[in-house]
Order: sequence, then C-alpha cells, then structure tokens
Amino acid sequence: MQIVTVLCISRYEKFMKGAINIEILFKDPIYITRPLLPNLQDVYSKLSEVWESKWLTNNGPQQINLEKALKEYLHVENLSLFNNGTSALLLGLKALDLTGEVITTPFTFPATVQALDWNNLTPIFSDIDSTTLTLDAAKIESLITEKTTAILGVHTFGNPCDVEQIQLIANKYNLKVIYDGAHSFGTSLNNKPIGYYGDMTMFSFHATKLFNTVEGGALTFSDASLVEKLSLLKNFGIANPEEVVLSGLNAKLNEIQAVVGLEVLKLVETERKKRHVIKRAYEYYLKDVPGINVLTKLEGDDSSYQYFVIQIEEELYGKSRDWLHETLKEYNVYTRKYFYPLCSDFEWYEHLESAQKVNLPIAQKAVKQVLALPYYGELQIESVEKICKVIRDSI
Ligand SMILES: *Cc1c(COP(=O)(O)O)cnc(C)c1O
Repeated sequence: MQIVTVLCISRYEKFMKGAINIEILFKDPIYITRPLLPNLQDVYSKLSEVWESKWLTNNGPQQINLEKALKEYLHVENLSLFNNGTSALLLGLKALDLTGEVITTPFTFPATVQALDWNNLTPIFSDIDSTTLTLDAAKIESLITEKTTAILGVHTFGNPCDVEQIQLIANKYNLKVIYDGAHSFGTSLNNKPIGYYGDMTMFSFHATKLFNTVEGGALTFSDASLVEKLSLLKNFGIANPEEVVLSGLNAKLNEIQAVVGLEVLKLVETERKKRHVIKRAYEYYLKDVPGINVLTKLEGDDSSYQYFVIQIEEELYGKSRDWLHETLKEYNVYTRKYFYPLCSDFEWYEHLESAQKVNLPIAQKAVKQVLALPYYGELQIESVEKICKVIRDSI
C-alpha cells in the first residue's frame, strides 16, 4: 500500500490497470535541470571579503575578476557583464545604433525578439534549418529590404548558426550580425570560440544555464570601442558625477553575483564532463527508437552541453511530443517543450507578413516536435535508463 502514497489518483488507477510500470516510477521528481551550485563555504569566505569592503556593485573588484576569468574561459578580447542576458542583448543592440528591421528566427526564447521590441526594431522572421533548427541562411537574403540593418541569429541548444554563410550575406548588404549565444557557453566551432563570430554575442548566466551567476549575462564583441559605450548604457549613461551623456538603463551585475560566478566557473569543466557521459547514455538508450531524433549532436569542445533535446516524429514514433511530455509526468519526470510557443505566433506580431505560418513551415513543424529531457551533471545514469525505458516502451 506504500505505493499509494507516492501516486496521485490517476496514476494509481493507471497502475491498477497495468499501464504504469512501478519499477520505473520516480519517487522524487526529476526536473529538467538543476543549477550548478558551488560549495557554500567557499562562497561564504569570498562574501566576507565583499562584506568587509562594503563595495556591493558598480565595477567592484569581484566583477572585474569575473570579467577577466570569463575573457579567458571564452577566449575573447572584449567582454561586458550585465545583470541578465536579456538586458545584455537589449543594450547590445542599442549600442550598435540599429534601426528599422532585423532578420531573426521565430524558434527562440521570447527574450531574443523582445530585445528587438524594446529597441523599436521590427523582427523579420526567417525560417530555420530542419537539422540544426538555427536560421536557414539560404532564406535570409530574400527578406532583406532597404530597412534591414542586422541579422540576429540564435545558437539554438548550443548548435552554432551557419556563421560563415550569415557573415557573407552581412558583408554583401553591410549588415551587423548579432548572436544570442545563451545556450553556447564554452562552445567552439572550427577551433574558434563561438564569440569569435559576428559583431556581438550574448551569453546568459541564468540559474538554468550551464554557467550561472544566479541571474546574469554578458556580451562579447569585436569592436573594442564599444566597451565604454556599454559601460555607460548599463549605468544610466552616467559618464562622471557631472555628466549624463546618453539614455541608458540600470543593468549592472553586482558583487554577490560575481562571487557566485567565480565559484561556479571552477565547476564548469567537471560539469561538462559529467553531462558528456549523460549525453552518451541518452544516445545509447535512444538509438534505434524510430521517430526519436537527437538534436544536440556536438561533442567535446564543440558542445556547450547546455541541453539534451530530442525531436519526436509522430508518424514514426506513433505518439506525439505532447503525449510523451504528459506520459513522462506520470512517472514524475518533468521535460520541457522548448522552445514553445513560436515567437512569430505572439499576438503583437500578427500584422507582420514574415510571421505568417505559411512562411515558416520548418519552424511550425519543429515547435510541435521538440522536447528537452532532464539534463544536469548529478542526474544518475540509472535515471537516464529509466527515462529512456518509458520513451522506448511507449511504442
Ligand atoms: C535564457 C535565454 C535568454 C535570456 O537570458 P536571461 O539571462 O534569462 O535574461 C535569451 N535567449 C535564450 C535563447 C535563452 O535561452
């Protein structure tokens, strides 16, 4: 009868009918991710330095240390820290003085397109590539008008965009290239760090991201002269006690966030190694399942190990993505439809020609098929086995 205590009624009924395999049921919920948390004592000792200094924000020593450490880790020359990834992107776009239209992907997190909205830039949605789910470079050119000033790509699930093709188009039409690299911390491509590509890349340090500062973010960029402008933009445009030179925002990363970041950074390599093993386990248990396609294929230094995402082809698998998402819940496994919904389907873009469903067939299909599975270093291989058993036995 102990079973009853861990099962809700519908689960219990299903169990009685033999539809739930009790061997597989998780007693404690398995979440999509768990934040990478540093040793609390180490955080305490660094925090006591901050307490003693009484310097809590505005270019403090911890922030400067984190900036330096991240430049090394990401192999970039120019990096600016922000209180979150969204404000980093928002102010990065502002720093580039963009106007008019920006070509972007509908298959992303709302923040990408909302950063355009806040800059009075019109997103022009371009369809995605069916294998990487990033912008399909072949579709971009036909959307360029005299109002286009930039291309904003997303390295979806850490899969890099077609950076070379995108750069060729940008050069031809004199456009800026910005990447939302929220999923691509530590990713490299052709032996180059991901931040090397384009004019600017945004990274998010939200708690759910591989590297976190609780909340936080950064921009990396090629034009060193932007360092000063970005510092102004994230601090109300205050140049000195006598002068305010532009309209900015408050978007500074504080000393407490920086302390957490410095400690989390020490754990990232080990976390990546653990996630590599988990990825291998998932791939092993899911290989040969008809209709289940692993989307995050990169390995080693090329991969950010940010998410483990599968695509479910209903015709082959026999069940829909939504069905699997709900069924895994019955077993206490929480997956995420990610990204969902499609940004081009937001109500306030209804009037845009490029947002119409008929113009975005690949994105419309992908948004019904993707599912991010639980993925974090502490996830046990036995748990991966059980999750995959539900997925396999469901067909
Ligand atoms: C997390 C995320 C963001 C937002 O970053 P925040 O740090 O939470 O503001 C933007 N874009 C993508 C693709 C993300 O996954």
